[in-house]
Amino acid sequence: MADVIWVYAELTDDRITATSLEMLAKAAQLAKAEAVLLGPAPEEAVETLAKYGASKIYRCADPIYGDYLTLPAADTVAGLIDTYKPAVMLFASSYSGRDLVGNLSARFDCGAISDVGDFELKGRSVEATIPALGASYQNTSTLTSDGTKLLLVRPKSFEPKINEQPLSIEEVPVASGDDLRKLRLKDRVTVKREGPQLEGAKTIVSGGRGLKGEENFAILKDLAELLDGAVGATRAAVDAGWVPYSMQVGQTGKTVKPELYIACGISGAVQHLSGMKTSKTIISINKDADAPIFQYSDFGVVGDVFKILPQLIDELKKRKAAK
Ligand code: FAD
Repeated sequence: MADVIWVYAELTDDRITATSLEMLAKAAQLAKAEAVLLGPAPEEAVETLAKYGASKIYRCADPIYGDYLTLPAADTVAGLIDTYKPAVMLFASSYSGRDLVGNLSARFDCGAISDVGDFELKGRSVEATIPALGASYQNTSTLTSDGTKLLLVRPKSFEPKINEQPLSIEEVPVASGDDLRKLRLKDRVTVKREGPQLEGAKTIVSGGRGLKGEENFAILKDLAELLDGAVGATRAAVDAGWVPYSMQVGQTGKTVKPELYIACGISGAVQHLSGMKTSKTIISINKDADAPIFQYSDFGVVGDVFKILPQLIDELKKRKAAK
């Protein structure tokens, strides 16, 4: 097996995403780490990739990769894989990562492993670990097919590591052809973010169906502000239309790992747990003493969120004012 692992680097707001850097750390630990960076990107993005372990970047800054969905990127990545045959290529479990891996595995008629929490190279195979049922179990999947192994990696699976490498950059030709321009990005809706970003927040206050309605999320916002944290939610709260999907934590939402996670009116379904179970400290408030969330909590308060949260907020305000 060749000793090169590629990372498909993604950008948000012109910055390399945390998951891209996490994947680079793992790639550099096992092999020579290289990155593919498609679409317009500032110079700092290239510098960041080198700082976090990429020794080579395959780059094409053409806007086609930003303006059209999936097909131009899939075409270019497939061409690069055909030419250079890296042992493994890592993609984030993001919208574009999932789209690309689906497309590439169909083109190459090869398997792919999704939701990867860790992996090892085993001779010509790749053995991946996939957390299941709220990370209560670890499933193992092995890819034995010839050619590049495609893995979709869960966010927060690895720690990013500064590991500066001498960098070479290879400019790759832009994907061309009208058939690649079938899917156009028509509009990008940006949900206005208030306070810290959920994924990077050190404290998260999350609400579930027990909050009873959209208006009560204002209480969580007050608490989060006092703790310099972000507000999250369960799918039940999102499905009810109380908060946007961008706030959903869990299997089909975001995976978070804050220092402190405060779960308010949340039962603790496995799909929610899988997105927050590895938080350092979990405090839960639930009126049902048998709610499953308590089994995963460091501290539990059995009671009504509408009585406990205002008291907690008052107390924190008093302490802040006394400082
Ligand atoms: P409930 O399970 O209804 O719990 C509400 C809790 O609030 C209860 O425990 C109740 O005792 C408590 N409560 C009520 N009133 C009060 C009060 N006044 N004070 C204190 N406590 C109170 N869910 C996610 O969260 N994220 C996901 O990404 C996700 N993905 C999914 C993917 C699939 C394929 C499927 C099938 C489901 C998914 N779900 C996900 C849904 C998940 O199974 C649960 O339905 C959901 O997490 C439940 O949300 P909840 O805890 O808010 O609601």
